[in-house]
Amino acid sequence: MNITRRDFIKNSLIFGGSLFLSPISLHAEQKKAEQWHPAYEKLEEEGKLAQRVEQAYSIFEDCQLCPRQCGVNRLKGERGFCRAPVRPMIFSSQPHFGEEIPLVGKNGSGTIFFSNCNLRCIFCQNWPISHEGKGKLLQDEDLANMMIHLQKIGCHNINLVTPTHVMPNIINATRIALKKGLRLPLVYNTSGYERLEILKILDGIVDIYMPDMKYMDANQADKYSSGASDYPELAKNAIIEMNRQVGELLTDKRGIAISGLIIRHLVMPNRVAGTEKFVRWVAETLPKSTYVNIMAQYHVDYKAFDYPKIARGITVQEFLEAMGWAEEYGLTNLDPQSLALRKFYTFFKRR
Ligand code: SF4
Repeated sequence: MNITRRDFIKNSLIFGGSLFLSPISLHAEQKKAEQWHPAYEKLEEEGKLAQRVEQAYSIFEDCQLCPRQCGVNRLKGERGFCRAPVRPMIFSSQPHFGEEIPLVGKNGSGTIFFSNCNLRCIFCQNWPISHEGKGKLLQDEDLANMMIHLQKIGCHNINLVTPTHVMPNIINATRIALKKGLRLPLVYNTSGYERLEILKILDGIVDIYMPDMKYMDANQADKYSSGASDYPELAKNAIIEMNRQVGELLTDKRGIAISGLIIRHLVMPNRVAGTEKFVRWVAETLPKSTYVNIMAQYHVDYKAFDYPKIARGITVQEFLEAMGWAEEYGLTNLDPQSLALRKFYTFFKRR
């Protein structure tokens, strides 16, 4: 019988997923999940959300929203490294079924793709959106309406993709949407190239942080992410802060994520991403039960064809090596899809 990779992963997930979706054993955790309200609702009740919006908007005047710290006045139409205007530019908004299982659930993750990017990796798979800024210029009110629409059609969260350069718009829109009935968790789906001062403004607003950890080495970050040699240090500090704010991933009784941290790490060819260093760092710095997704889907895109070290996909061996390190360093909450993929590759290697 021929078993395809898709069948194998599907079957593994039915088994693994049922384990994953089983009720959380700790009574206290379950109670916490049942009584859950989005973080920003509490902040609004305390009268602090409006202040945060004001504080965030004032940063546009001398833009320091990300580590590029361009200092441009976006309120006056100036543009910095990210080329983003002061209003939100949005490429798309829809339920997405390709995200991590706790985000997708039955009805999908309510994904909003923002145009432009403050990191701009040369291998970006979304380069027309992130590098070329394809999208539609909207108002914060429109963004709020999108959030409400995603909630209406049953999405389990609002998944903000590449949010850093539009953070003030996001929190303003969240406040508008809250008044219109928004009650979904906010997922801050970021490259990890963040400033601590800015993340502190988000404390009590974001429910789920989903940062990438792209590289552990300054030279790789410099070369492949538009001169961002400070990426590894800043992303590590950002993840520690995110963990302080939201802690480990918490799901409700359906297995849907309601708060916590998910770290994504894309395995790259020729060990460019520094995977061993990454998993060791997680194991030594954060709880070993931190949700980590070691991703195998790197493919050559955009300008990556011009860089010999990353001008090919990863091998099975490279992915298995990455998963092996995660196991060796004792990480206990790896994404079920990456575990299923490892099982699939191991199964066929043995045949
Ligand atoms: S958000 Fe854009 S303009 Fe602001 S500091 Fe970052 S790159 Fe520069």
